[in-house]
Amino acid sequence: MTRLHFASALLPSGWANDVQVIVTASTIEAVTPGVAPAAGDERHQIALPGLASLHSHAFQRGMAGLAELRGDSTDTFWTWRETMYRFALAMTPDDVAAVATLLYVEMLEQGFTRVGEFHYLHHDRDGTAYADIAEMASRIAQAAEASGIALTLLPSFYAHGSFGGAPPHAGQRRFICSVDQFAALMAASHKTIAKLPGANIGIAPHSLRAVAPDELAAIIPFADRGPVHIHAAEQVKEVEDCLAWSGKRPVQWLLEHAPVDQRWCIIHATHTTDAEVTAFAKTGAVAGLCPITEASLGDGIFPARQFFDAGGSFGVGTDSNVLIGVTDELRQLEYGQRLKHRARNVLSSGAGRSTGRTLFDHALAGGAQALAQAKVGLTPGARADIVTLDAAHPSLAGRAHDAIIDGWIFAAGSRAVDCVWAGGAKVVEGGQHELRQSARERFNAAVRRLVT
Ligand code: ZN
Repeated sequence: MTRLHFASALLPSGWANDVQVIVTASTIEAVTPGVAPAAGDERHQIALPGLASLHSHAFQRGMAGLAELRGDSTDTFWTWRETMYRFALAMTPDDVAAVATLLYVEMLEQGFTRVGEFHYLHHDRDGTAYADIAEMASRIAQAAEASGIALTLLPSFYAHGSFGGAPPHAGQRRFICSVDQFAALMAASHKTIAKLPGANIGIAPHSLRAVAPDELAAIIPFADRGPVHIHAAEQVKEVEDCLAWSGKRPVQWLLEHAPVDQRWCIIHATHTTDAEVTAFAKTGAVAGLCPITEASLGDGIFPARQFFDAGGSFGVGTDSNVLIGVTDELRQLEYGQRLKHRARNVLSSGAGRSTGRTLFDHALAGGAQALAQAKVGLTPGARADIVTLDAAHPSLAGRAHDAIIDGWIFAAGSRAVDCVWAGGAKVVEGGQHELRQSARERFNAAVRRLVT
């Protein structure tokens, strides 16, 4: 049992002072506000719940910063994707484990305590399945276990190179499954995560480019009652290709043809019309926004204000993992809207309400829903995923309650994170994960070989 005491803590009911939290094994057992610290309590100043990065492709952390050279034509997502394919084609299972372990260490150091791993690098370098078809998924699970981050594994179904069932091209060979292979992959993936603390599983039909309608219908039952994640409407070209194929836009097609409900998370949904935004919000599905990646890839800006006004839910994901940060994702989300609308505090929930708090609350709730977590936050019965901030950070000085969150997101940034408990274990102290050094060495060795 661990007894913690916080001068100030963000609870589901709002901020409270002098809060004692009792953790037993991986779970919060009791939360008592308004009590003086007792002998034996570990004392900290400011506590927040950990957030989820609801959308990650772990292996892409290895190529972060390697696609920043201008191509010979108008450089877009599609040239970045060629770099990503070259990198993906070279990685061994050991490389994936090394890259994912440091990525998850970095996520925890930033205050992400759960990751939704949209996992599509399945097969050996020649495209044949490993003897254990979930070999790569097992390396992701190892990385989660070593780092302490909670994993929602989302094995991805990927079958085609474009809309209309076009054959995949050679660069996609490690991603490709038949429906029967995917059934085997799901069964093996269930076994892989069965003993992993805090883990659960869903499915990830990659996109309407990569999954034909009959295949989508065939694989949805594999989710059982778990989450269903799909990329949609990230790029203008994708929207144009979808219109040419079906006469519908990607989000429109999904809402008309797939059983989209609260278990679903539509990743990006960047290019959506007002009618799509309204209909999407009504389904109760989560928008999986990845603001840093969407900016990095030049995707565009999600109509977040309209989606909020329509009652939509969203969470954030680090996606390509080019930069890892809770504050970076939330700040970029708001700043994109400010640039688009030429206004300030666009995503605040109302006059006099903190923008940072609105963003944080949405990301906590939307991330939990998208990764099928019934209970999150500093509350009895939730997994003990707790983040403390350094109250001595200059950008937090003299702040209380919501002003702390605003100071963290908009001014202090990642270096204000002090300690992180993941499933009751204190894995980050003084801003540093206990595995940082060894994970960096292993990552660097893998990436040096892959880059040369
Ligand atoms: Zn993605």
